Amino acid sequence: MFKLISGKAIAQKRQEDLRLEVENLKNKGVTPSLRVILVGHSGPSEIYVRNKKRRAEELGLDFELIRFDETVTEQELIASIESLNQDQTVDAMLVQLPLPKHIDEEKVVQTVSPYKDVDGFSPINFGYLWQNNPNVIPSTAGGIMTLLEESEINPASKHVVIVGRSNIVGRPLGALMLNADATVTMAHSKTKDLKSITKQADILISAVGKAHFITADMVKKGATVIDVGMNRDENDKLVGDVDFDDVSEVAGAMTPVPGGVGPMTILTLMEQTIEIAKKRV
Ligand code: NDP
Repeated sequence: MFKLISGKAIAQKRQEDLRLEVENLKNKGVTPSLRVILVGHSGPSEIYVRNKKRRAEELGLDFELIRFDETVTEQELIASIESLNQDQTVDAMLVQLPLPKHIDEEKVVQTVSPYKDVDGFSPINFGYLWQNNPNVIPSTAGGIMTLLEESEINPASKHVVIVGRSNIVGRPLGALMLNADATVTMAHSKTKDLKSITKQADILISAVGKAHFITADMVKKGATVIDVGMNRDENDKLVGDVDFDDVSEVAGAMTPVPGGVGPMTILTLMEQTIEIAKKRV
């Protein structure tokens, strides 16, 4: 029987627990605080940041958006991060990516203190993750693990195929799946005969960024398909990487876009902020 995995419903269910946790922390004198640094005014980044702000405020977090103009220098940005690193009232921070071309993204990400790095992108947190000793988990990857857990789909001993190897999604997810005892194959643009690999997946995850990329002939019957992609189709409609109507004929379980991985990413970010703040109690 086909199962639709609704990230929206799962996120809503967990949100109330989180709100109570925040209330509990506040009673102990700690309000979890999150700072988001945004450079410029790119449409998608503005939307992501707005959604983070809304969710943080719903949960009662102390949220502040720190804006810089597109022309900000790397030095100015780094100085601002260093000051947040020192600020005892700030639990967690993230720099909304991508950054303008004149700024070295890697250098900026590395400036964020690993203790406050709520995105989990710092090399130290990445290292902990790959050592199966995670500190902070990148939100999209963490959100996917929660989606599976809530749907009672255990990756242990399953063949998980991840298409996409970015630092934001594919790589951290690969580590989490390995930590969860899955057998993991990571595919990317240089992979030969992708279809023969995706067809072997018990759990197939697509994080490519191309509409209609995964079609039914690439999916094993009954497989779980997780669609990370967020793309605009020819009618400017938000769609994932997976051809939903086609693939739902074959898959056993699937996430929709919108309402699948997206809501879980933001929820996980809030969860991680609260986890970091708990260390202050
Ligand atoms: P990147 O562009 O950084 O990575 C895309 C990956 O796809 C790369 O590893 C690339 O391979 C691979 N790829 C590209 N073309 C092919 C191909 N023909 N065959 C196999 N692999 C291919 O993207 P992100 O990881 O940042 O994001 C991926 C998608 O997920 C985007 O649509 C993004 O918007 C979405 N996203 C959604 C989130 C959510 O919360 N729902 C959060 C983050 C991202 P190579 O490494 O060889 O170039």
